[in-house]
Amino acid sequence: MNLLNDSKKIVIKVGSNTLSDEHGFINEHFISSLTHQIAELMKIGKEIVIVSSGAKIAGLSALNKWSRKEDINYKQALCAIGQVHLLEHYRKNFTENNLHIAQILLTIDDFTDDTRLLNIRNTLFTLIDEGVVPIINENDTVCVKELKIGDNDTLAALTCTIWNADLLIILSDIDGLYDKNPKEYDDAKLLDIVNDVSEIADKIEIGSTNAFGTGGIKTKLEAAKICNKYEIPMILACGSTENILEKLQNGEAPRTVFLPKLNY
Ligand code: ADP
Repeated sequence: MNLLNDSKKIVIKVGSNTLSDEHGFINEHFISSLTHQIAELMKIGKEIVIVSSGAKIAGLSALNKWSRKEDINYKQALCAIGQVHLLEHYRKNFTENNLHIAQILLTIDDFTDDTRLLNIRNTLFTLIDEGVVPIINENDTVCVKELKIGDNDTLAALTCTIWNADLLIILSDIDGLYDKNPKEYDDAKLLDIVNDVSEIADKIEIGSTNAFGTGGIKTKLEAAKICNKYEIPMILACGSTENILEKLQNGEAPRTVFLPKLNY
């Protein structure tokens, strides 16, 4: 079984930690490598949608100030500035691979309103039919705390459900799901396959997240629950592993696979 090879419609979610370098700025090498790998997958007929975090990091990289502002308006302003820069990084790199990108900014409301949902779905399908790479992010400007989807893990899972994706790949800064936080425990064990995400959620230890992460492992498990409920498998893997998508294709990378229960 190789999920990536067997899937055509793939949503790839990229986390903030994966997009940032050791100084907390945008990791240009990562974006360049990711876009190249996605272009290679598209050449063999895969359809890809990206859900990307990183607006705040891109904002900090561009401005080099406001990093300590706690005021929500400054945070939203930073994301508004950063989103332009983030997409410019993607645009530049995808252009080098002869691909166009499109930006879609969404909120939780969009998934509960039938008309909006239809519009999103139509736009998404049109872009993909035309070979464009949609890049989705949460619309931080219109989201106050109560309205937020909360994190892009959930947004990626919801995107999978409305697009009828075959696979969700979440690229984070860890190799997969461990029995306890690998950043806190050296003896944490990587789980290869999860067949029942609800059951496993009660068994593992969920530690705290680091600098830029917003959801942590908890929201990744929630994303797996949403996907698996709709019969969509999910892979959690480490984005900073060189050529991670290629390695996942060849079965050469550590990862955790979350499989829908009914398949087994
Ligand atoms: P991202 O920015 O990719 O969304 P997050 O920081 O939000 O990443 O979540 C990933 C983090 O979750 C890991 O860096 C890790 O420290 C933490 N974590 C806590 N518990 C676990 C666990 N049981 N298995 C794996 N990671 C865990």
